[in-house]
Amino acid sequence: TATFNYGEALQKSLFFYEAQRSGKLPAGNRVSWRGDSALTDGAGTGVDLTGGWYDAGDHVKFGFPMAFSATMLAWGAVEYRAGYANSGQLPYLLDSLRWVNDYFIKAHPSANVLYGQVGKGDDDHKWWGPAEVLPMARPAYKIDASCGGSDLAGETAAALAASSMVFRPTDAAYADKLLSHAKQLYSFADSVRKVYSDCITDAQAFYKSWSGYQDELVWGAIWLHRATGDASYLAKAESEYDKLGTEPQTTTRSYKWTLAWDNKQFGAYVLLANLTGKQKYVDDANRWLDWWTVGVNGEKVRYSPGGEAVLDSWGSLRYAANTAFAALVYADKTTDATRRTRYHDFAVRQIGYALGDNPRKSSYLIGFGANSPKNPHHRTAHGSWWDNQTVPAETRHVLYGALVGGPSSPDDAYTDERSNYVMNEVATDYNAGFTSALARLQTEYGGSPLAGFPTAEKPDMDELTVETTVMQNETRSTGLKAIIYNKSAFPARALTRASFRYYVTVDGSAAPVVTPGYTQGCPSPSTATRVSGNLWYVQVDCTGYTIAPAGQSQHRMEVQFKVGVAEGGTWNPADDPSYQAATGPNRKVPLYEAGVKVWGDEP
Ligand code: BGC
Ligand code: CA
Repeated sequence: TATFNYGEALQKSLFFYEAQRSGKLPAGNRVSWRGDSALTDGAGTGVDLTGGWYDAGDHVKFGFPMAFSATMLAWGAVEYRAGYANSGQLPYLLDSLRWVNDYFIKAHPSANVLYGQVGKGDDDHKWWGPAEVLPMARPAYKIDASCGGSDLAGETAAALAASSMVFRPTDAAYADKLLSHAKQLYSFADSVRKVYSDCITDAQAFYKSWSGYQDELVWGAIWLHRATGDASYLAKAESEYDKLGTEPQTTTRSYKWTLAWDNKQFGAYVLLANLTGKQKYVDDANRWLDWWTVGVNGEKVRYSPGGEAVLDSWGSLRYAANTAFAALVYADKTTDATRRTRYHDFAVRQIGYALGDNPRKSSYLIGFGANSPKNPHHRTAHGSWWDNQTVPAETRHVLYGALVGGPSSPDDAYTDERSNYVMNEVATDYNAGFTSALARLQTEYGGSPLAGFPTAEKPDMDELTVETTVMQNETRSTGLKAIIYNKSAFPARALTRASFRYYVTVDGSAAPVVTPGYTQGCPSPSTATRVSGNLWYVQVDCTGYTIAPAGQSQHRMEVQFKVGVAEGGTWNPADDPSYQAATGPNRKVPLYEAGVKVWGDEP
């Protein structure tokens, strides 16, 4: 079995969560191509809902998978804190957990209210651009005492409780705060007994609660028990356990699926087996993990020839990784020596597959190992200014540490295509169990993070430019078309007070004659300003107009005008400092934002 530098993989996998940040970024932001975004989330609700994580390659903040991802990340650190410490990643882990938990706290403004989604799925998905210039409204959706959500509230309680355990050693006050929210949310979950996606109906097309809330009632109680030591939560978990799902037409607890954003019962098997050692939990955990490894009654998960355990087509590697992590947690505690080796080796193999031990000899973790994916289905990493998945052809940013979906069938086949969100999307929930498994493997096989990671990216082009075209060369004037372009992505940013200056020289002392022409919005100029002597400029001022890399027309602003001299004067465009005969970006027409030069040269 191949092994890898798990320290480096952990470093990168964890880094991905920083690329997913929404809201005002902290001073220490390590993702050079990300900026502040979605700063008005929550507006209209009276609750500040900025912050949190964008879900995947889109920009919706789906609370259900966000909470699951936080629980899984925290779980990894509860079990394998040393993996983080050994590879210098503990501060970053704490940072990412604090980032998301701060958001959960904001989203939980009173005992029985929890905001569970910001952004409307369809409106968000039909637009393809960077987070920093989102053009659509972002409604916020909540659950409350009348409109339930035991699954959402239970998972968020689990996330807060598990995270409190991670903060306990270094920040007890914060851990207590997380726990108090967790307890309230758990009581809410337990009393409301409703499915969140029947309340937040916009989530149905994306993260419908298929398995219902029973599993989150068990899972949340387990995490509260672990975080508080309170035996009543364990009793609660055990009593709710008996109502968990079974295989169709049987009384056998479900085992042909896995722990993922929807169904946590498989995680409960492992946790309760480890916590109590009781045979029924051990049996359920064994049956489930056997189905993933050696099979049960001759049936097992489908395997590719190259060794990937493929549960489902969409994001197959995430299911394998989640199972691998739970298998490791269980293997580390079981007294069954055969199964310990079986589950451990399964996990090493599945994580290895994702890191490059596969027939394609390619990594599925972006920016790690051999031939890793270049074209994830991720709007901000792509950096389109055209609201288009194919413009530009190349992905502009390296989305370090994102695990792509992977093969969609058990055939080891994969194509690195941006449009393919089944194989090539990335998501906060894909990385969560995976990151935790890496922390565990680091403790066994070692591995060090890269020094000096990450290096800041350099822009791949002039992001902000003015292009000029000489429309008319007349005896006493030059007709010009000027277009401001905003293709920014390092990070993307809107221009709202753009201006540019076209410099001319005149013979004599009379002011040049400026004639306005066609414009897409910004006022076309009618005057010139003298710099000194015979040097003048014509200023086009776009203050109040937004020019942003948000679409074909949104990223540009065209203004035409003529500049020349009055009847009787002489006009020679060739000696104008800004004159450029050929159409193209014209550095001699400097561009400003709020009066600060952002591109080009003054004479
Ligand atoms: C979005 C993806 C999303 C998929 C399914 C696509 O349009 O770009 O982010 O996963 O729809 O909802
Ligand atoms: Ca569920």
